[in-house]
Amino acid sequence: MSGIQFDRIALIGIGLIGSSIAHDLKRLGLAKEVVVSTRSAETLKRAEELQLGDRYTPSSAEAVKDADLVIVSVPVGASESVAKDIAAHLKPGAIVTDVGSTKASVIAQMQPHMPSNVHFIPGHPLAGTEKSGPDAGFPGLFKGRWCIFTPVPGTDQAAIKRLRDFWETLGSRVDEMDPEHHDKVLAIVSHLPHLIAYNIVGTADDLETVTESEVIKYSASGFRDFTRLAASDPTMWRDVCLHNRDAILEMLARFSEDLASLQRAIRWGEGDKIFDLFTRTRAIRRSIVEAGQDVDAPDFGRHALDTKE
Ligand code: NAP
Repeated sequence: MSGIQFDRIALIGIGLIGSSIAHDLKRLGLAKEVVVSTRSAETLKRAEELQLGDRYTPSSAEAVKDADLVIVSVPVGASESVAKDIAAHLKPGAIVTDVGSTKASVIAQMQPHMPSNVHFIPGHPLAGTEKSGPDAGFPGLFKGRWCIFTPVPGTDQAAIKRLRDFWETLGSRVDEMDPEHHDKVLAIVSHLPHLIAYNIVGTADDLETVTESEVIKYSASGFRDFTRLAASDPTMWRDVCLHNRDAILEMLARFSEDLASLQRAIRWGEGDKIFDLFTRTRAIRRSIVEAGQDVDAPDFGRHALDTKE
């Protein structure tokens, strides 16, 4: 038990991320009361069966009443409608945050609706899996992971500190950056890898003559590592693409150029060039392990460390 940090916390959206937060709130005893809200009766019922909160309501407006901390965990494209729904019901002095994978768009959607007497602090925990829904969450998801805040200028420093303490209690390390920078960085470390995975798995699926047998049978040769990313939630990733369009298009253009250069090296038998690239990339893998962001196990530590992003 870590101790109460907020009297009432409202969780708006209770999928993988919302439910993982809920597990930690309970495990660490961080709130006197946790109110869970989600739009569908089915998910709400499941959240109740899993005992993810103390109270459950389909109305986000109802959920945020008297909440000291509101955490919005819905696909980024739904941010504006949630902000509109909750705005008039927020408690003065409340902290409102989100977990969305893109930040400039979430700020553009939510900030204009936020009353001046609440502290809106956009956030993004870099932790997740390819699963979704309330059953997918688990305690400790955020342990050892980064959480990035992209506060708008003039945000109350004491509120930022409170939210930072909260995420640190969940085991995260917190960084702050401006939203455009966040979106660029995430375009390369998260969004592009997912798009490559979606694309390669789609290409294999289009090769109908082999997909039903050989591709699956021999997948351990490399293909299966892409399928994990390509199994990620389609709604979430559609929204990420549409809401970080410019940075993603820029990274895709650079990727295509580099791929063309590799293609040319293969065509012209430029072994040294190919070898140099593969040596450089191997060192990056080593740095990631050294930074504690993955473990050096034959299964990439997926059993011990079932996280990505
Ligand atoms: P999820 O498991 O699919 O859960 C989504 C939640 O949002 C559910 O409660 C769902 O409600 C609700 N929702 C879906 N569409 C909505 C809409 N149009 N309006 C209002 N509510 C809606 O998603 P998640 O993986 O937790 O992702 C939530 C957020 O976290 C996203 O913004 C994502 O970018 C971000 N994120 C995800 C990961 C990851 O790896 N998954 C990592 C970091 C951040 P119903 O089920 O009731 O429809």
